[in-house]
Amino acid sequence: MVIIMLGAPGTGKGTVGKLLSEELGIVHISSGEIFRSYAKKHDKLGEQIENYISNGLLVPDELAIQIVEKRLEEPDVKNGVILDGFPRTRNQAIVLDYILKLQRKMVDVAVELDLPDDDIVDRIVKRRTCINKNCREIYNLDFRPPKKEGICDKCGGPLVQRIDDNEETVRKRLKTYHETSEGLINYYKRENILYTVKMNNESNTTTKDVAIEIRDYLQNR
Ligand code: ADP
Ligand code: ZN
Repeated sequence: MVIIMLGAPGTGKGTVGKLLSEELGIVHISSGEIFRSYAKKHDKLGEQIENYISNGLLVPDELAIQIVEKRLEEPDVKNGVILDGFPRTRNQAIVLDYILKLQRKMVDVAVELDLPDDDIVDRIVKRRTCINKNCREIYNLDFRPPKKEGICDKCGGPLVQRIDDNEETVRKRLKTYHETSEGLINYYKRENILYTVKMNNESNTTTKDVAIEIRDYLQNR
């Protein structure tokens, strides 16, 4: 099973993707996480990637595709994958279909999490992430606060705010998202595999609720 998570930054696709991956027993791959780990290395490639990320820009297609393709060749992807953050452009979607075809796989469903921009900004500035690279649990000071302030419930690691989780960068990332997502969403709509979940901050729907809705949809399809 190949599932694509679509949605603007801050819609909770990372958290939902992780929950779904536990429910379905398939690996969750976040392109953003991969790029952030490259950005931490102080080599030339790392510095380039760090530059794109901290300016709210996309990593250029060619580079993004090359890095993700390499990850999709790892053995843990054999049973399926939840792809979070990739593809991000129509071009990446076309290349992904091609890569999957070579592995005799195809995208089963593209899940779009839809949340208004102002709700997104509100969520992102309150987002905190565990720095333990084997954990990377995501919290929200309003919706999903850690039991102890600044400490990860799961592993006890320290929680930090991502360098790109400030209002200015978020607005830029949203602009980038809206510019590139339409073509992507239409691509999956046309293939008839788009599933949209409408959300807002008032409805109190948790990421757990969203994950269960998607799982049920997948099972009853
Ligand atoms: P968010 O969805 O919150 O913006 P991500 O963790 O998905 O965060 O991505 C962080 C950054 O990594 C993006 O702003 C972008 O620079 C880069 N990135 C992630 N996925 C891709 C991709 N598929 N193509 C190009 N750049 C990407
Ligand atoms: Zn942790």
